[in-house]
Amino acid sequence: MEGKKETCQFKTEVQQLLNLIINSLYSNQEIFLRELISNASDAIDKLRFHSQTNSEVLGVDAEFKIQIIPDKENQTLTISDNGIGMTYDEVTENIGTIAKSGSAAFMKALEKSKKNEISTPELIGQFGVGFYSSFIVAEKVTIITRSVEADKGVQWESTGDGSYTIEEIEKKGHGTDIILKLKKQEEDEQDFSDEWTIRGIVKKHSDFVNYPIVMDVERDEPIPEKEQVVNKDGKPIGGKTRKVVKEETLNSMKAIWLKNKDEITEEEYTEFYKHLSHDWNPPLSRVHLKMEGTTEYSVLLYVPSKAPMDLFAPDRKHGLQLFCKRVFIMENCKELIPDYFGFVKGVVDAPDLNLNVSREILQHDRLVRNIRKNLISRLFKLFSDMEKEQYDALYKEFGQVIKSGIHTDFENKDKISELIRFKTTKSDDKLVSLKEYVSKMQPDQKEIYYITGDNFSSILNSPHIEALKEKDYEVLLMTDPVDEWVVMSLTEYDGKKLKSAEKGDLDLDKVDEKKKNEFTSLFDHIKVRLEKQIKEVKASTRLKGSVACLSGDNYDMSAYMEKILKSTGQSIEKTKRVLELNVEHPVVVGIKDLFEKDRGNERINDFCDLLYDIAIIGEGGKVENPSRFSQKIGELMSEALKNGL
Ligand code: ADP
Repeated sequence: MEGKKETCQFKTEVQQLLNLIINSLYSNQEIFLRELISNASDAIDKLRFHSQTNSEVLGVDAEFKIQIIPDKENQTLTISDNGIGMTYDEVTENIGTIAKSGSAAFMKALEKSKKNEISTPELIGQFGVGFYSSFIVAEKVTIITRSVEADKGVQWESTGDGSYTIEEIEKKGHGTDIILKLKKQEEDEQDFSDEWTIRGIVKKHSDFVNYPIVMDVERDEPIPEKEQVVNKDGKPIGGKTRKVVKEETLNSMKAIWLKNKDEITEEEYTEFYKHLSHDWNPPLSRVHLKMEGTTEYSVLLYVPSKAPMDLFAPDRKHGLQLFCKRVFIMENCKELIPDYFGFVKGVVDAPDLNLNVSREILQHDRLVRNIRKNLISRLFKLFSDMEKEQYDALYKEFGQVIKSGIHTDFENKDKISELIRFKTTKSDDKLVSLKEYVSKMQPDQKEIYYITGDNFSSILNSPHIEALKEKDYEVLLMTDPVDEWVVMSLTEYDGKKLKSAEKGDLDLDKVDEKKKNEFTSLFDHIKVRLEKQIKEVKASTRLKGSVACLSGDNYDMSAYMEKILKSTGQSIEKTKRVLELNVEHPVVVGIKDLFEKDRGNERINDFCDLLYDIAIIGEGGKVENPSRFSQKIGELMSEALKNGL
């Protein structure tokens, strides 16, 4: 039977990424080798992990290695591994596409780069270059791979110009060979089929890779005297040396995390991070620990400088790998670090762990719990000791993730509350900690005020905070969806309550009782007219310049929360809110006067409806019936103009 064979087109975004990589990484061509070696090493890690539960898969080929095979004459370079390999479907899925979770994000970022809002290296940095980097140096790339689970191999081939072919083939043994047909090099460019060039690159970028990276090298070896052919004068013919080919290991395989800090250069730390994370950018910071004593373990953690595009994807992997005496045990080790620090990448090596430990056991393992606790506290220390500028950079990328911890880690809530930052009515676009906020509170201010909403400028100018602004009280402006969960769990900081500017009584200046009474019958009328929309009409203590706003009771859902839940497709009952009116405002006073003089006036109900619509618009919401709203406004404007305004 003929095997499958197809010619397929790259997805548009892949072709665009490819073009970008090829055109912009000119000055840094050699990184392709690091990327391919990293993939090979990951593939061996995966097989190793897989073989713990399926020991028969390994067969005789249990000596893991990554082989580099240069061919100077034909100008090819092959990177070969005996890792897990790929099936036909896996090749289609993994090569020639950008991970599903990243592809929409990529298109968005690409748009930004076209508008020069972000630079190309930054764009590529966010996605990593991975396998595609082969096309920087190769005019044609061939992948020959066989999954450990399959009995047929697969061949994938492309010249990087829009399409690729994929077909079933015979292949001996599992693993993957990547064969690069090298582009013609200019005089002054590196020759990637040259032994010494390859040695240099491997040493520089991949020295710590956990498996031997081997290459056959040709050397002159002295010929033992006994074997030398001599002429009649006893002189050797054909020289004293001969050419032999030997397999040499190019990397030291030294686990960088086990070394002492002073033995590691800055460059080595950065290279290891890039290998580990597949991130293009250098890390923002790191923690390197070697714990000795009763519990022994080594930890090397990195904080990335840029958030990956799939930071919020539900299937996103955590960045920690677990080792036991340099032997890889598992990746994505969630047991070692909470979700809110899940963006941290690194390695934990615990010699006392059982090599065959399963995830289920890990969760309950005392040593693992111990390490987790220590990692959390080290990271808190690292973050709180950072210079403001560095921490702000980190917060810009990962703040939303860190904030989520307030809701999920009760035990560490107080510590996390020291890490969170917000913009405020007084911070001029800068981020402020709760500690700073409290230190600048007004002498008569008792609570910490906040307002939530999806639009920064509408909450900054919201009618709800007019009275607070007049009192010179600072208000935290919360625009991340996760903030709604933060305020649900963080009800107090430093003994001060967190108080929503949109809910309950603000306990500011009271409205004079006599004045309130003057409005009772108008308010009763409005309440009946707007019965379906609101639950109460009240004289407001929040408003200063505006006519109306809507507020909730202390435990009501905020308008923003309602919007968030709706956007996730949840059917929620609309919370009726309180219509607050500014009884000092000429509009409200005017309506009251009209109502007292002429209760039956047909305009009164129009005014009631408009008061509600104005309140909605004031908080950045959408009126229910925009055409009725604009018609009524039109009528009122023409009346005002007719009356000689
Ligand atoms: P990344 O390595 O960042 O995921 P790549 O584009 O380099 O992105 O690779 C895409 C996927 O292809 C990998 O996640 C892996 O599943 C698969 N892959 C790449 N190289 C190999 C290899 N040598 N052996 C097995 N699978 C591989």
